[in-house]
Amino acid sequence: MKIELNQTVRPERVLTGLPVSPGIATGTAWMSEGNQLQSPVYTLSRDLVEAELARFAEAQAAAIRQLKKLKGKAAALPPNAAEEVETLLDARIQMLGDSRLVRGVRQRITDYLINAEAAISDEIAILVEGFARMHDEYLSARADDIREIGDRLIRHLLGTPFEAFKHLPEGTILIAEDLSPADTMLLDPSRIAGIAGMLGGMDSHTAIVARSLGIPAVLGVSGLFDGVEAGDSVVIDGSAGRVVVNPQAETERDYARASASLEQDRVKLATLRHLPAVTADGVEISLHGNLERPRDVAAVYETGAAGIGLLRTEFLFMNRTTMPSEDEQYETLRDVVLGMGGRPVTVRTIDIGGDKLAPAVREHLGEPDSALNPALGVRGVRLSLAHVKLLEMQLAAILRAARHGPVRILLPLISCVDEVVSVRTVALRVLRRLKRRGLDVHDTVPPIGVMIEVPGAALSADALAMVSDFFSIGTNDLTMYTLAIDRDEDRLAKLYNPLHPAVLRLIQFTVEAGSRSNLPVAICGEIAGDARYTALLLGLGVRELSMAATSLPRVKQRVRSLNLAHATKVARSIMEQHDPARIGPLLDTLNAV
Ligand code: PEP
Ligand code: MG
Repeated sequence: MKIELNQTVRPERVLTGLPVSPGIATGTAWMSEGNQLQSPVYTLSRDLVEAELARFAEAQAAAIRQLKKLKGKAAALPPNAAEEVETLLDARIQMLGDSRLVRGVRQRITDYLINAEAAISDEIAILVEGFARMHDEYLSARADDIREIGDRLIRHLLGTPFEAFKHLPEGTILIAEDLSPADTMLLDPSRIAGIAGMLGGMDSHTAIVARSLGIPAVLGVSGLFDGVEAGDSVVIDGSAGRVVVNPQAETERDYARASASLEQDRVKLATLRHLPAVTADGVEISLHGNLERPRDVAAVYETGAAGIGLLRTEFLFMNRTTMPSEDEQYETLRDVVLGMGGRPVTVRTIDIGGDKLAPAVREHLGEPDSALNPALGVRGVRLSLAHVKLLEMQLAAILRAARHGPVRILLPLISCVDEVVSVRTVALRVLRRLKRRGLDVHDTVPPIGVMIEVPGAALSADALAMVSDFFSIGTNDLTMYTLAIDRDEDRLAKLYNPLHPAVLRLIQFTVEAGSRSNLPVAICGEIAGDARYTALLLGLGVRELSMAATSLPRVKQRVRSLNLAHATKVARSIMEQHDPARIGPLLDTLNAV
């Protein structure tokens, strides 16, 4: 695929957003919307019509939700632009209500027994043709709206990524409205130089995956689609949260210099790879890597990580239409374990839900997406326990992979002791079954740990310690649930603050409970990978941090430069503060000493 360069001379324009993935990228804009989607066409048996109509209704509801969210964002634009965008979005929301389009699609599914994607494509084609015949400028603009709605609906139905991602050329800057974590997973960093998105928060999984791939990204950019056109030359400054459109020659030179200096830094930091993560006063700290795509295991190994502290297995279930079998899961995990060459691998059972969608799993289980409040719904361990076969299959794969190297099992979204006990019972049963099948497994179940990411779990840490082998604090969700702020919501990004005293107290409480029970306590949320927090976290007693491979060298540098006595003082001063707004600046001052 070739991207046409925009030849019109347009003035430089700077848009701002959240600096979610550091680094500088220069390239050519490619708009992820308006792309030709590939959708399947098939016929249905009559008894499947009701289910297909329900599937279409779900996509319709999801598209309306998304447009309403975008409408919320439009409020941040200058008044005139806001009004225009809102009117446009309202018209689209209306078309997704009880409209000719929706009625037509439903009728086609029922009368012609075809799948929803095919029904949408056919209905849109007829409507667009009708508009085109009228040779009216206003109506031809409506045809574009209708096409856009069709694409949006099909995207929701497919729940699968843009085919076109695969074919984008080197140096592409992806301009997206609402890039999903599953789509981000498919980006090839050798082609996609940078990302700018309208929606998404600092610790959204889209941001996490971009960071782990090392693709500079800015999310939550207001006015993105007014400011950039396909083919524009764009600079993404993922460290400052800037998107510079059509940069002038001087701006380009400045960014080229900044980029060269970042590269020098990176090369320097890479030399720390073989050095131990030991503080200046001799305390050893375990620095682990987080892993989303199993094929990136070598990148974690290369950083000299002590192990994998968080393998987000839910990503194995995305971007596919069928469930992975036990054997497929086993083979993938085995390769990760072997790839780490004897260093421990912490495998988290699937954490689908919230912003991590895996339509194939939900469909297979007959589980609808919790429409009202997905973050509080059937996600994480709740989904696994509600569908024990799914859990059994995953545990069987993990127990078999454990034969190839040290493995730990980690449970997401635990909120009570019973859940841990139940998983342990299932694990023992699965182990017995595997032995009966004559498979090569250890005699015991690997250590089972829990994510502390729900405030209730942090406050029950004493009780959870009695049934767990280790804790891993998930500060991304812990911050979200403690402060009641969606981690995906860019408009509340300023309030989403892991340094809020309430979050820090829950971390402290957990670390103390762990220490009373001699339980290792790690942090695997995004603060673990930010060197700004290292002194504070070590000062609170944490001795294991797990982070994106790309963050590990800088955190190691910080560990090696600090003294634990100083870190303890930093933690004490921070814990005495009550005002969330003052904690960040105070931490920066203490870090500078
Ligand atoms: C967390 O919540 O901090 C965490 C590590 O899990 P995830 O980001 O996958 O929700
Ligand atoms: Mg989490």
